[in-house]
Amino acid sequence: LNSGEAGQPRPVRAARGNTLTARSWQTEAALRMFHNNLDPEVAERPDDLVVYGGTGKAARNWASFEAITRELTALRDDETLLVQSGKPVGVMRTHEWAPRVLIANSNLVGDWATWPEFRRLDSLGLTMYGQMTAGSWIYIGTQGILQGTYETFAAIARKRFGGSLRGTITLTAGLGGMGGAQPLAITMNEGVALCVEVDPARAHRRVETRYLDEVADDLDDAVRRVETAKRAGRALSVAVIGNAAQVVPELLRRGVEIDIVTDQTSAHDPLAYLPKGIGLDDWSDYAAKKPDEFTDRARDSMADHVEAMVGFMDAGAEVFDYGNSIRGEAKAGGCERAFDFPGFVPAYIRPMFCEGMGPFRWAALSGDPADIAATDRAILELFPEKESLARWIRMAGERVAFQGLPARICWLGYGERHLAGERFNEMVASGELSAPVVIGRDHLDCGSVASPYRETEAMADGSDAIADWPLLNAMVNTASGASWVSVHHGGGVGIGRSIHAGQVTVADGTPLAGEKISRVLTNDPGMGVIRHVDAGYDEARAVAAERGVTVPMP
Ligand code: NAD
Repeated sequence: LNSGEAGQPRPVRAARGNTLTARSWQTEAALRMFHNNLDPEVAERPDDLVVYGGTGKAARNWASFEAITRELTALRDDETLLVQSGKPVGVMRTHEWAPRVLIANSNLVGDWATWPEFRRLDSLGLTMYGQMTAGSWIYIGTQGILQGTYETFAAIARKRFGGSLRGTITLTAGLGGMGGAQPLAITMNEGVALCVEVDPARAHRRVETRYLDEVADDLDDAVRRVETAKRAGRALSVAVIGNAAQVVPELLRRGVEIDIVTDQTSAHDPLAYLPKGIGLDDWSDYAAKKPDEFTDRARDSMADHVEAMVGFMDAGAEVFDYGNSIRGEAKAGGCERAFDFPGFVPAYIRPMFCEGMGPFRWAALSGDPADIAATDRAILELFPEKESLARWIRMAGERVAFQGLPARICWLGYGERHLAGERFNEMVASGELSAPVVIGRDHLDCGSVASPYRETEAMADGSDAIADWPLLNAMVNTASGASWVSVHHGGGVGIGRSIHAGQVTVADGTPLAGEKISRVLTNDPGMGVIRHVDAGYDEARAVAAERGVTVPMP
């Protein structure tokens, strides 16, 4: 198959029910999840095979799509399909414990790992951008963003506020694609959110989708509403229309009792942050015509914004950068103390990574939401002591609309994931679930990613850019019995900046699947524990000792 060979876009939807279209559930699962990634309910631009994250694709081109579909349909249980950046390149004889699919996406040799070189090769049809879960066929829609944001705020609640955000106010800005998950994630943690957004249309859209409760008339009204809710211990999210570079300093000046401050404006791109003194209507024109002048003004404004965030920190609030580079831009704009507050990974996520925690997810191949409801109940029964997990599972059941095959995500750690997986496999065997489920995760996990600007920022031993870990992770999952395993480059933060791996394992109800699940779902998060033991984290050392993770040189 040549990469240029023709293939026409067509609507794709995964098969449902418990009748096989491939030779076994192991391959049926890969086929359904591959197709599910391109379901119009799931994919952003299915005709271009783009699933999410800018240009993250599920297959290189439509000819590759047809060939992968064909091969998975025919593949036997002692064969393995090889996928090179979205193109099927070979089928090899292996054995029943081997993965049915091995995937490598977007990888380039170090000195060549730049966007221009990647784009050159992409335009020649030689590679494909796989993001994290687009090219590895385990994307489940926006539930992942909401859950990740929920988990971050739950971690803050545990760290500072006794496990719940009840009676606290979180001040943030930006209600866009990612940022729009903040108000719901905060109210799910029982807190009060005050969200500053310059674009009223964005704020109102969030009310329509029930991610945001109210839009205030003005700042006085907003402050009244959030203070009343805080005193009553009532969860509430309120947006105020305004420019964060003005509103955040004004709230500091007024001495409003804010407990947590962060930001999710698009600060990483100065042309996407509206400087004060420029009207919403003039934004795109000004940015297009005078990008340098606009950038200077945006950085000046971000300096004021971050200066006020530092002021809140000095006043005792919990303040953090939510992965949008606002500290760096503010520093460029003259805010000397911009890096006085931490990024969210070192502050809240890393302690969870030390326990092997990460975004565990599963999807019901039946297509029946009742199967996910049954697994939700199983999770609640398995981990009754985990309060924030229970809150998430209950609220997700009520408020998350499924996209494509019904799926669930929640964060589980070392010693927990395999219990869930084994239970799901038993439920398939007993008929409690109407068809098998797949169990996978995001590549953004405790032991599966090297990404110095995000997941591995500021590692204790300075090992931020060491990329042996994701490679070991992929090999461990291959050796442990995962159903498909992937190694990607450039997901999340872009080409040249990350290397990461993923696995998906099928619970088809057989004893063999149970064996594989118990190894994969132990060893995969185990990589997170040993990665953090090796970097010198005491929390990880304690987890390894308590839960029996063997580390030769702790
Ligand atoms: P987006 O562009 O969809 O939304 C940004 C919002 O900020 C827009 O609604 C815009 O109107 C608003 N805004 C811009 N300037 C403003 C100002 N001065 N005052 C108030 N509001 C203003 O972006 P998004 O997808 O929501 O992402 C937000 C940021 O989070 C990005 O920088 C992104 O890179 C970052 N991000 C973080 C993570 C993470 O791991 N935490 C993951 C992905 C993205």
